[in-house]
Formats: sequence, structure tokens, C-alpha cells
Amino acid sequence: MEQCLFCNIIAGKIPSYKVYEDNSFVAILDINPANPGHLVLLPKAHMSSLMEMSEQDMFKFFTIARALSLSLLEFGAEGVNFLYAMGETAGQRSPHMLMHIIPRYKNDKVKFVWEPKKFSEEEFKTQQQKISSLIYKGAQPQQQTSTPQPQQPTQAPQEKQEKKIYTLEPRQGGYW
Ligand SMILES: [Zn+2]
Repeated sequence: MEQCLFCNIIAGKIPSYKVYEDNSFVAILDINPANPGHLVLLPKAHMSSLMEMSEQDMFKFFTIARALSLSLLEFGAEGVNFLYAMGETAGQRSPHMLMHIIPRYKNDKVKFVWEPKKFSEEEFKTQQQKISSLIYKGAQPQQQTSTPQPQQPTQAPQEKQEKKIYTLEPRQGGYW
């Protein structure tokens, strides 16, 4: 992944302000920070999203994220936001997955804004039912992402649909 900015940062080809590093993960200061101490935590191995991370590594990832947020609180932050975007529509701009760990200070003018949408009880129930019926797929990311599609000609249409929802279409288009 010679073209990936973050792979080059991890390899030391591009300078960065590292605050944490182990065999699998690196945390650096964001050079376009929302606040002083704004960190970016990323896996050393190139991957486009959390879907490609093993459960064991996810445990480490969030354990490190928690440790970093505690250090930010010691640093002077009064609160911390984790900001992770999966998919271009969600705001993912980097092909290398990363999570922002943003220290918050009173009156820092950092805003995460959305306009609340209105749904009827019926609409909420439909969303609840659809999502809860699909969620078990999310508990098995490794199995889902490593299953080659062409070798599953006998798969039921319903299963295919679930798989499509789960594995995120954009990754198949070569953008990621
Ligand atoms: Zn990369």
C-alpha cells in the first residue's frame, strides 16, 4: 500500500507526532485537529474498516482507545469523543481505517450536528425489526468477509441480501 498516506506514516516515510505505538497499532496527533490533543488511532496493517479487524485486535483497539482517552483527561480534557466513520457516505475519507479521539474542552466550539428526523411508531418498529433480524450477522465479521462469493451458488436470495448489507458495497467497487 505504497499510496496510502497512513501506511507511509506508519512506515516512518512521512513524519508524524506519535504518542503511542505497539506491534499492531499507532496513535498520532491529527495535524488538522479539532482541539489540542486530537488523536488518530489506527491499525498498522492496512485495512479499510473495522470489518477487517479480528475480534482480538478490536479488543486491543478499544482498550488502547480507552487508555488514550484517559491520558487526554489527564492532559486537561473535560470529555472525549470517539469518531469513527465507515464508508464514504459516513464521511470516511481515508482508505486506511482510523478512529479520531477528540479531547473536549468547555466552549471549544466543536460540533457534531444533525437535524433529528421524525418517524412514526410504526416506522420505528419496522426499523427495529429489520435491524434486529440482521444483527446476528454483525457478530461474525470474519466469517462473513472471508467467504468467497462465487463459491456459494446455492445460497438463498435472502442470505445474499443480508451479506450484501453486511459487507458494505463500496468495498467491492475498488474505491476503498
Ligand atoms: Zn494504509
